[in-house]
Amino acid sequence: MRTAGRHFLQIPGPSPVPDRILRAIDMPVIDHRGPGFAALGHRVLTGMQGIFQTKQPVIIYPSSGTGAWEAALVNTLCQGDKLLMVETGHFAFLWQQLAEKLGLNPSLIETDWRRGADPDVIEAALRADTSHSIKALCVVHNETSTGCTSRIADVRRAMDAANHPALLLVDTISGLASADFRFDEWGVDVAISGSQKGLMLPPGLSFNAVSEKAIAASQSANIPNSYWGWSEMIEANKRGYFPYTPSTNLLFGLAEAIDMLNEEGLENVFARHLRHSAATRKAVEAWGLEVQCTVESEHSPVLTAVRVPDGVDADNLRSVILAECDTSLGNGLSKVQGRVFRIGHLGDINDVTLLGTLAGIEMGLHLAKVAHQSGGVTAATDYLKSTRL
Ligand SMILES: *Cc1c(COP(=O)(O)O)cnc(C)c1O
Repeated sequence: MRTAGRHFLQIPGPSPVPDRILRAIDMPVIDHRGPGFAALGHRVLTGMQGIFQTKQPVIIYPSSGTGAWEAALVNTLCQGDKLLMVETGHFAFLWQQLAEKLGLNPSLIETDWRRGADPDVIEAALRADTSHSIKALCVVHNETSTGCTSRIADVRRAMDAANHPALLLVDTISGLASADFRFDEWGVDVAISGSQKGLMLPPGLSFNAVSEKAIAASQSANIPNSYWGWSEMIEANKRGYFPYTPSTNLLFGLAEAIDMLNEEGLENVFARHLRHSAATRKAVEAWGLEVQCTVESEHSPVLTAVRVPDGVDADNLRSVILAECDTSLGNGLSKVQGRVFRIGHLGDINDVTLLGTLAGIEMGLHLAKVAHQSGGVTAATDYLKSTRL
């Protein structure tokens, strides 16, 4: 049976793709070695430097974000190298598993999955490594499984305070272009991202932004790699081309996404996300439910993970909301499966999209007989009214 109206894809990635980007992708495929391609290549490569807030090279892979995780590790490290990773949630854990499969030797700082990486704990761990055997610190900027961000500028300060030479590798797959991210200013060495979250594109592109120090490390790294290798990419990119076939049509979409972000202004994009995140928390509070993130300065602008009362199955609630309100919400992953649902408020979202989503959730809470107070939508509306940009 047909479902009328627009589906609300409010998972924390993939995020809804704006019509402008869909139109931009809907083009005949072009010759990626032809004379016209370089203009598109240069446009997206320099455009992405602006989005990462860097003057350093940005590499674009035809892969999901996981590929760019792997690329960051294989280009900079040697087999058996020690890494320090912070288990802020499911994605940080997956990255650690990937590092182990590559023959790296990660040690893990554990958390309760309700906060970002703690700069003080990182500083202590790096100070204790007096022989500087840790070659890289890996942190997830926006932990999509918990709705907690890590304060990357403070993490960099902690590394500097410990006077430790490890590379700083940051997963901003779901953070970039929704949450402020400053590659150069924050002294990040490799940033990892993907197309299907803040960049508002379909899945299929991933990114590495690379510092001079990371490029220098890649000269002596020895983990076998070919497809992910930076040097051939950077050489071909200088002329606007790629060493193998890029996702031509997604690059059309990427050029459009970069234009859209710049037309709005990155500062305004970040402010919009912070405001929607705060409005969402107003709704959650009014419902009498609890947000997964417990640290005020670490609430994610990208998504809100909401804990359900004991005895309630969050996945059942999500399926009621999908069936009754045609609204998709994110599920709880691994440790928090069934305990949380995740509201995506990233990418191309405005006040009424958010309010529609929250209305769907409030209806779902009622229909699934989850103990709560009504009035969440009103609380969010009041907040949005009082904070119009
Ligand atoms: C989505 C996501 C990933 C995984 O990216 P894929 O594109 O699914 O490979 C990794 N880390 C974070 C923080 C994410 O949000």
